[in-house]
Amino acid sequence: MSIVDSALTPPPNCEEALEMLQSMPLLELGKRAFAEKQRRYGDRITYVSNQHVNPTNLCVYACKFCDYTAKQGDDHAYVLTEDEILQSLNNPQIHEAHIVSGLWPKWGFERSINLIHLIRSARPELFIKAFTAVEVAYFANMERCDTRIILKAMMDAGVDMMPGGGAEVLNERIHAELYKDKIGPGEWLRIHGEAHALGLPSNATLLFGHIETDEEIIEHLFALRELEECSPGFQSFIPLAYQPGDTGLTACLVDANRCLKIIALSRLVLHNIPHIKAYWPTLQIETAVAALNFGADDLDGTLGKERIMQLASTASPEQLSHDLMERMIREAGQRPVQRDGRYGQVNKDHRGNVLVEDSVC
Ligand code: SF4
Repeated sequence: MSIVDSALTPPPNCEEALEMLQSMPLLELGKRAFAEKQRRYGDRITYVSNQHVNPTNLCVYACKFCDYTAKQGDDHAYVLTEDEILQSLNNPQIHEAHIVSGLWPKWGFERSINLIHLIRSARPELFIKAFTAVEVAYFANMERCDTRIILKAMMDAGVDMMPGGGAEVLNERIHAELYKDKIGPGEWLRIHGEAHALGLPSNATLLFGHIETDEEIIEHLFALRELEECSPGFQSFIPLAYQPGDTGLTACLVDANRCLKIIALSRLVLHNIPHIKAYWPTLQIETAVAALNFGADDLDGTLGKERIMQLASTASPEQLSHDLMERMIREAGQRPVQRDGRYGQVNKDHRGNVLVEDSVC
């Protein structure tokens, strides 16, 4: 029996999960989620030294919740060059590149695949997480081909994993209201299922704290759980607390309690997805650290320059150092382990000291 199958208690069904979200006291929910995290990973909390690469913030779409995108001529519009991107990845301490872009013809399919080739040849050992399902669908549309052709080309070029962005809330009402021009729930799930079937693992996100209802959050979690049952390949789930920035969209109350409830519930519902991330740029650092005692097992990440959340006007620091990451994990009563993109332990710390191998992974 695998670590995933032998949970302390059976995973909740839809009705039970909704009841937990709406009525279970936060500390009770957190206690159950933390016990499940401890059963799987002990006191180990992983973090990765990563670099976010966002080639451009120009985008052909205008999702209502998006405070990242720019229009041509805007002061904050930018388009990176290949040289700038390669330069941002030349630090050997970076173990993972996370590449996500606005949808823009000048950063189309051929150039994006060529970028992966360039990165792979400059940094053969780097773990490359690239192109959301939204980008895959955009490339397929531009190239007039099947999304599987795009996914295969990504794999051939050296992509190791797909990021989980673009899922937003997997619900037709929210798709119609907030992001009707880009792919909706069915397409997002189909493309991730295709990636998994081809052997390309992926992550999944949830953007919460805007117009969604509790029922729609539950619908989202169970859509992911069901896809993982049919076509396994999700590595981690990342709840993202919505940052309205200058969008004019009113965020509903996303306080620390709400964030911790979503993290804890995710750990219990998503029994078949190995990792739950506390993503500090949207949760805020204090809440992300608290989440390590509410079921999260990964504190993401050192991040390098992450443009999306910076442009969305958060107060998060640009980059967390290794020392600070490790100190925060220890202050949460947990044991920091620096990981690579595959959740294996890196064999040297950032000072070059050889590390003792950790037995849980
Ligand atoms: S969320 Fe993505 S697809 Fe939508 S406008 Fe922003 S960058 Fe473009």
